Amino acid sequence: MKVKHEANFATLAIHAAYDAKQHQGALTPPVHISSTYAFESVEQGGAAFQGENDRYIYARLGSPSQHILEQRLAALEQAEAALATASGMGAITATLWSMVKPGDEIIADLSLYGCTFSFLEHGLKTFGVKISYVDLTEPENLKHHISSQTKLVYSESPSNPNMRLIDIAALAEITGQYDCKLMIDNTYCTPYLQNPIVLGADLVVHSATKYLGGHGDLIAGFVAGSQEDMDRIRMFGLKDMTGAVISGFDVSLLLRGLKTLHVRMDRHCENAQKVAAYLAQSPHVKNTYYPGLTDFPQQPLASKQMRQAGGMIALELNGTKEQSAQFVNQLQMIMCAVSLGDAETLIQHPASMTHSTYTEDELSAHLISPTLIRLSVGLEHVDDIIADLHQALESVFSAASGNCFSPSGLAILA
Ligand SMILES: *Cc1c(COP(=O)(O)O)cnc(C)c1O
Repeated sequence: MKVKHEANFATLAIHAAYDAKQHQGALTPPVHISSTYAFESVEQGGAAFQGENDRYIYARLGSPSQHILEQRLAALEQAEAALATASGMGAITATLWSMVKPGDEIIADLSLYGCTFSFLEHGLKTFGVKISYVDLTEPENLKHHISSQTKLVYSESPSNPNMRLIDIAALAEITGQYDCKLMIDNTYCTPYLQNPIVLGADLVVHSATKYLGGHGDLIAGFVAGSQEDMDRIRMFGLKDMTGAVISGFDVSLLLRGLKTLHVRMDRHCENAQKVAAYLAQSPHVKNTYYPGLTDFPQQPLASKQMRQAGGMIALELNGTKEQSAQFVNQLQMIMCAVSLGDAETLIQHPASMTHSTYTEDELSAHLISPTLIRLSVGLEHVDDIIADLHQALESVFSAASGNCFSPSGLAILA
């Protein structure tokens, strides 16, 4: 079946950019693992290198499997083109290497995925790119900082791990007045919940390791935007600078994951909404950050630019950093692990784990509290997720209030 770019999301996720008739009727796209491609003559090879035919040359420049995936991803993000990479960081670094040079400035939001922060701070900065961190939740702040030196503005929304949203359309309006690109990490939302390009961003990056793959069995990423930008990132950032090329096997796994993305996301969102409501009413939880809660400060912005509130929650307990760790350790079904967007509910403590690349001063400057806990709500039955959270909270806080009787001890007393 041939589908048009305008088809509905679910249909595109299953059919876009693949016509089984051209592949012996194979329902699932073939896995191309060839590293190189043979030419019929030197002349034909020469023409391929000049871009005068569309022959494949060498897998670092692309493969037929990768091509199907990229067109499908572009359709889902409603972008002109996309470029698949070996990891989310592969997409982020290949893009940034291609877009800035020494002397340029990048303005980034205060809250960033740990390795993105590390790449800006310990990578690009040492190569002479000026990095400024600005609170982009307030678009006015960007207006004050941006100048002709600013070539790129970078943000996540919602941000990892603290769920801050930025108004993508408002930022795009400001960057549009300069020779400056707006780049959004859309990992938390996936293209099913939010399309930054439609909102005015120039570049959108993803860790496909998370919801897009969805089963915790691959590492991948992609960037989407204009054809011109994708060509530049492919032929410089990816081919020459990082070499972070996706394998044919991972292309296949990712295409499989994408087929159920919309179904999984609906359930992630439904479960997360119920888990957030449970946490918000618990006396042991001080703050629950979830865009679907009516008292979430940026709720109006969430409903303006996101279709649903997503599967990620951040929380702070009414307790110490040690009690936060105890709470995580007391969970039985929910696993303490980094990554997110899998079928399994995963929990982690950013200050100790994903964001440990930040120093203590950097953590506070970037608004990540030492007690913050990140929860990726999975696809188990929501009652079982809540029951596990409940027993862990009760065990930490009943111990703290001096009640040392374990339930089995009480049974003996009775
Ligand atoms: C995981 C993640 C990344 C990095 O992606 P990898 O696939 O692990 O390289 C980037 N941004 C966000 C928001 C992430 O959650």
